Amino acid sequence: MTLAHLIRTFVRRHAAAYAAAGVMLLAIALLTVWMPRQIGHLVDALVARELAGPALWRELALLIGAGVLIYLLRVGWRIRLYAAAYQMGVELRRRLYARLAEQGPRFYQTRRTGDLMALATNDVDAVEMAAGEAMLAGFDGTLTLLLVVATMALGVDWRLAAIALLPFPLMAWSFAWISHHVHDRSRDALERFGDLNDHVQETLTGVRTLRTLGLEARSSRRFAELAGAAARASYESQRWEARYEPAVGMTLVTAIVLSLGLGGWLVWYGELTIGQLTSFGLYLTQLIWPMFAAGWVLALWERGRAAWTRLSAVLDEPLAIDDDGTVATVHPGEIVLRDVHFCYPGNTSAALSGLSLHIEPGSTLGLVGPTGSGKSTLIKLLLRQWMPQSGGISWGGVALADHTLEALRAGIAWVPQEPILFSASVAENIALARPSATRAEIEAVAELAAVHEDIARLPQGYDTPVGERGVTLSGGQRQRVAIARALLADAPLLLLDDALSAVDTETEHRILAHLHDQRQGRTVIVVSHRLSALADADQIAVLRHGHLAERGTHEELLAKGVAHGWYAQQWRIQQLEASIEQD
Ligand code: ADP
Repeated sequence: MTLAHLIRTFVRRHAAAYAAAGVMLLAIALLTVWMPRQIGHLVDALVARELAGPALWRELALLIGAGVLIYLLRVGWRIRLYAAAYQMGVELRRRLYARLAEQGPRFYQTRRTGDLMALATNDVDAVEMAAGEAMLAGFDGTLTLLLVVATMALGVDWRLAAIALLPFPLMAWSFAWISHHVHDRSRDALERFGDLNDHVQETLTGVRTLRTLGLEARSSRRFAELAGAAARASYESQRWEARYEPAVGMTLVTAIVLSLGLGGWLVWYGELTIGQLTSFGLYLTQLIWPMFAAGWVLALWERGRAAWTRLSAVLDEPLAIDDDGTVATVHPGEIVLRDVHFCYPGNTSAALSGLSLHIEPGSTLGLVGPTGSGKSTLIKLLLRQWMPQSGGISWGGVALADHTLEALRAGIAWVPQEPILFSASVAENIALARPSATRAEIEAVAELAAVHEDIARLPQGYDTPVGERGVTLSGGQRQRVAIARALLADAPLLLLDDALSAVDTETEHRILAHLHDQRQGRTVIVVSHRLSALADADQIAVLRHGHLAERGTHEELLAKGVAHGWYAQQWRIQQLEASIEQD
């Protein structure tokens, strides 16, 4: 869809607002051409000494009245039009937001957050300006131009009008040339602003790390560079936009010189009255606005087009994960992975290859293996954040891809290693998936997640605000709040991706024991580096280099012996470490 197409569909939907603004503009244009004509008559009547006393005052009052009416109409169309144009901004932002919320990790892997934020602010503004200001100024300018030229030609003298219009084609040509450059420069300016935004976003997110590493000076320098580049790009774009004005000025001066020459000659030979030449001069000055409008409209349009190209690239980017499944509820049953192969885009080696695994419904699976062995990747495939390149994953006999994404989101509770707490109270953060949960239910899951006491000690208990604008919880507390949140969601599949890494061993044990007791048919998959935490799991799977290396119960895996199994080896190491710590 091009910008023109977008605006056409929008104008069609808001036809009433645009039509009302158009009618008001037409009235303004008619009044505007009427005024010089009236002034011309007045001048002729005054020169002929035909107008005096009350009649003169009446004529003047009429002119003033017309001026006031023009003013009111101008205010009116702006109010009508801007209400519609803002609506377009809202619609675009909503579309962009919905798209961003739908997109999967593949999209975010290649896009920068700051730039996406720039799209939602700067770029949407530019498109909004093109749909509002530019559309109406274009309409207004064209209307005034046509009316003024027609009145000049028909109402005054067509020869004079033809001469005055001679320099206009040259202006059109220079406008086309300037527009081309304005487009390129605007795109550049929008991109630079995106870079700048991105840097600010990154700095604010990592401000603690930056400070700890003493990198503020370097970051500031980089910021200054980016801010300079963004300012230069905007300046370049403005420099080109500024060239519209001299083009208008030159055209106008040439038109005035030409028409005064011919006009003077015509007056001399009695073919034109002085009043008519006065009107003509006034008409010429009325062409200033349409010409400036043309330059301005072109600048806004080109800026809007550059912004729309950037926006539509994001809006039209296909979803990383197709949501074309039809099964709208999950059927909790056996989870089967069959010969799953998955490689991240841009990577040369596979994160998972030939992985086959059966997970009994209602069982707890411990997932272990060295860092980078593919544990998180497996969790992400189960969440359908990514799709395997070959092989299949099914749940309760239905392929994962045949479910709607909504069904999967509702059927799976997931706790990542670094959960996000939003700016809300602790209770609201826990009740994210079920805002209707009672305080008693919230406290019950907090007990299970062994975080109730921590919360009770906060200044306002469960009502304490947390997240960006609230109390900062420790890593372990955040993890436990996230586990409580997942438990409250009460989904048939619970995925804990190293979700207790910041919690001490004893608490981790306690939480997992609670999960075990309260699972009520729920399947649980726990990724953990601490093998002792998983000793009670029904099954333990060991991943290495994306393969299933070992599988069995804790006892079975230990029985393989240190010489033959990663699990037994790792168990021995961790036991030794624990005993050294105790000493
Ligand atoms: P684990 O959870 O066992 O530590 P991961 O599943 O995170 O391992 O990683 C498996 C492999 O995939 C690693 O080689 C890692 O570098 C790679 N990987 C993980 N996430 C991404 C990603 N988003 N993009 C590209 N490669 C990734």
